[in-house]
Amino acid sequence: MLGSVVPDRSRACPACALRVRQTRCPRCGADTVDLRDRKERRVVSLRLAARPAEGPREGWVGDVVATYLRWGVPAVAALGAGILMYLHGLAAGIVGLLMGFFGQLVLVPVVAGGTAVASWVYHAGRGRPARSLRIFDEPAPEGDEIVGVVRVRRPVSSPLSHTPCGAYRLVGRTSVAAVDEAAAGELLVETPEGAFVVEARHAQVRLEPPTTHPVVRPDAALTKLLEERSLEPTRGPVHLAERILRDGDRVRVRGVRSSERREDGYRGHEDAARIDAFVLLDG
Ligand SMILES: [Zn+2]
Repeated sequence: MLGSVVPDRSRACPACALRVRQTRCPRCGADTVDLRDRKERRVVSLRLAARPAEGPREGWVGDVVATYLRWGVPAVAALGAGILMYLHGLAAGIVGLLMGFFGQLVLVPVVAGGTAVASWVYHAGRGRPARSLRIFDEPAPEGDEIVGVVRVRRPVSSPLSHTPCGAYRLVGRTSVAAVDEAAAGELLVETPEGAFVVEARHAQVRLEPPTTHPVVRPDAALTKLLEERSLEPTRGPVHLAERILRDGDRVRVRGVRSSERREDGYRGHEDAARIDAFVLLDG
């Protein structure tokens, strides 16, 4: 039976466009929103899509052309005329003025067309949120450290390969944002000073992640995990790779030590030294 997985960064602060684990935004202090709830996800998406400083698509083309006609036309004509007047005297300058004027007949459509193309490219992704949620990379807290060999006690299931493991880190990107998700279970860590029971379900998993992220086709469970973090896996290609912590791997655990008699009577470790882990790192 797999241990329950603490949802990692499945909350968001729409105001700061941050995806976090905390119930309060670490940046602005506002209550965060649970992305696992479909309705709340939609609210976040709508708030991210609101672009108050920006006019509609047609308005932008119109504004650029209007501004160009208002200031650019006389400026270009005057500049051309000025240069020619300087070089060739008044008569040539007048010709230049006329050339500048008729030149606009070509330049205006070119500028308008160029702006329209740029606007179309810019808005090709219309319907996508203007801002996407960025990951809030929390600082790693200090604490006692142990280094040793992992024996997995309560595994979690890795999201890509569904391998039961002590911890996983899933990294990559979807078409809307970066992916860096993790979970950990309960470990036994064997060190030279003895074995520690490590409660890691609330720990940050900072294992070195894979550096290449191939395109994957998420299955139902992975799709759900990504959807519940507003990563919109169905919008485009999903690049992912996972790092998993297995039995026998070395791990560095940072946390707070305690020693307690265990109620569940894990044989041989009733009085085990324990660490509530803040951070898991490579050992
Ligand atoms: Zn905030």
